[in-house]
Amino acid sequence: MRVRDLPLPEQFVAHFADRGIRELYPPQAAAVDAGVCAGENVVAAVPTASGKTLIAELALVTADGPGLYVCPLRALAREKYEAFAALPGVDAAIATGDFDATGEALAGTDVVVATSEKVDSAIRNGASWVDDLACVAVDEVHLLGAERRGPTLEVTLATLRRRNPELQVVALSATVDNPEAIAEWLDAALVESEWRPVDLRTGVAVGGNVTFDDGTTTAMAVPNAAVGEAEAGGADDGPPGDTEVTAALVADGVDQGGQCLAFVRSRTEAVALAERLADDRLAERLGTESAATAAADEVADVDGTATGQRLADCLRAGVAFHHAGLRAGHRAVVEEAFRAREIACICATPTLAAGVNVPARRVVVRDQKRYAGSAMEWLPTLEVHQMCGRAGRPGLDPYGEAVLVGDEDTRAELVARYVEGEPEAVESKLTDPASLRTHVLSAIATGFAESEAEILDVFEGTFYAREAGAGGLADAVAVAVDDLVAAGLVRRETGGVETYRLAATPVGSTASKQYVRPETAERIVSGLRTAAGMRNPTTLTVFEVVCDTPDMQDTYLGNAERAEIYRFARANAGALTTAMDEPDDFEEWLESVKTARILDEWIGGATVEELVASYRIGPGDLDSRVERAEWLLSAAEALAETISVRVPAVARARSRL
Ligand code: ADP
Repeated sequence: MRVRDLPLPEQFVAHFADRGIRELYPPQAAAVDAGVCAGENVVAAVPTASGKTLIAELALVTADGPGLYVCPLRALAREKYEAFAALPGVDAAIATGDFDATGEALAGTDVVVATSEKVDSAIRNGASWVDDLACVAVDEVHLLGAERRGPTLEVTLATLRRRNPELQVVALSATVDNPEAIAEWLDAALVESEWRPVDLRTGVAVGGNVTFDDGTTTAMAVPNAAVGEAEAGGADDGPPGDTEVTAALVADGVDQGGQCLAFVRSRTEAVALAERLADDRLAERLGTESAATAAADEVADVDGTATGQRLADCLRAGVAFHHAGLRAGHRAVVEEAFRAREIACICATPTLAAGVNVPARRVVVRDQKRYAGSAMEWLPTLEVHQMCGRAGRPGLDPYGEAVLVGDEDTRAELVARYVEGEPEAVESKLTDPASLRTHVLSAIATGFAESEAEILDVFEGTFYAREAGAGGLADAVAVAVDDLVAAGLVRRETGGVETYRLAATPVGSTASKQYVRPETAERIVSGLRTAAGMRNPTTLTVFEVVCDTPDMQDTYLGNAERAEIYRFARANAGALTTAMDEPDDFEEWLESVKTARILDEWIGGATVEELVASYRIGPGDLDSRVERAEWLLSAAEALAETISVRVPAVARARSRL
């Protein structure tokens, strides 16, 4: 099927042709046959890199009205936004600040790219543009199985469809075990395909020997000692042997002219592996030394942090590390340099696999387990398949290669799980009590529901309800309502004998609009009251309040630092709203104190470089905590007004962030 045969204006045909898209890939053609250009609901469950974005673009540009592209991961939204903004005559907007209220500024735009949280927040704040939508495309819809984000995604989609039954829904999914359930939920035609633009072979490496699933093998030299260690040590804790096998696989791939991605379990491992690979002069081997040096200089210009310095040193050698603790500016340089074939290898945590478009000749998955709480757990097959799916660049590679590094003991398990194994089914997480409280409060605060029965109506359109029936939620919803009443966010207004209606209290209503979790609102309200009774509440006081909420990310507190933060908390007890014998979870509270201290030093003029060095946090982590603090302090200001409490330090802290 040719692009020019589609019902598209000529300038779009030319635009796609400019990008090398003239003939549709088979799954795209199947989506057109299923009516994606004719207003029909379609779910496309196809492998990574098989052109899902175009399916969404086709739906949005042929829809009879404004469109919304829901991008569950914020890091991916910009790339998608740029794709839409580049479409001739299309007015696109991006709304990804997860938490701020959504203005009417988005009305009148052809395509809005937003996270599900942003859309949820817009609905809660009564934005009218969501009712005018003709089409919504949802990327990575399998993330509906993720904690917290998943429930937000399914409730948001259910609400949009309830308010606008004519809305066209197009959902894009990685290959999962139950795509038909997602299609059924959305009343959509299912396009399911295993097709890929480049063939993929997946293999397991034991020592220097790789056996692929198509029966081919390849061998490379790995220093003997390292092989011995890998065999003796097992893959569980990533002994040096696995690293050397990975290095050999990368060097071999690069010598054949291809770039590589290497996946490891943690940020520290990503940095360590990149620094090890930097010894192998990969830029020289790829013939891109000067371009790699230019990328290194660009990174060094972003800031003077040790992380930036280490990244620049790696880049100079043609290799990079990539993880969520990097600053957005650093990540962008790495992704661009890789796409431009200026660097040979990225060592990444699994987050890179989920959507960033960085195709490579060879993908090496060194670690297939990661810490989950206290034990090591196998990664989900779905996640490993997304990593492997990055292998193979259309038009450049004859095939892509994905290699899992293992040993004799794990070989059979790796083959069963990841080479031959099917990805997991997507399961709803809506029954998680914390998520349910949030969405129940929102249903009440927005006026969509005034009773438990009406709340169940709101949830009727969720994936959970389609699978298990909304009745299955009845008990959990009743508990959530009781919790919210006990927390003072919802009240039962009696309307006669044994009848009542549920209404949000002023605090509940503010919490919902400010998009903070019920527990966050509760903590902030009690913290503000305590602060108001203190003689001299400081900025540290209010940071301790907002950092001690589930909406602030935890900051890792190592053993070595613990004593120091403990001393700090004791010395500053007079400025904190929590007494040291009060917290249920003392360690978690100490982490909050650490975050509060960092933020307080930040507004006191400490530099990123200093904070990163003193507190061993990633520069990107500092950025994201500052951003969250801004949002939570603005919620605290709104809550202070709601309960008529004055704590001037809130505004003071916020204005200095
Ligand atoms: P996915 O979202 O499925 O992982 P993308 O939509 O990012 O994949 O597409 C991967 C790459 O394939 C992009 O670079 C895109 O431009 C290219 N592509 C998509 N469809 C076609 C096509 N029909 N012909 C040629 N290239 C295509």
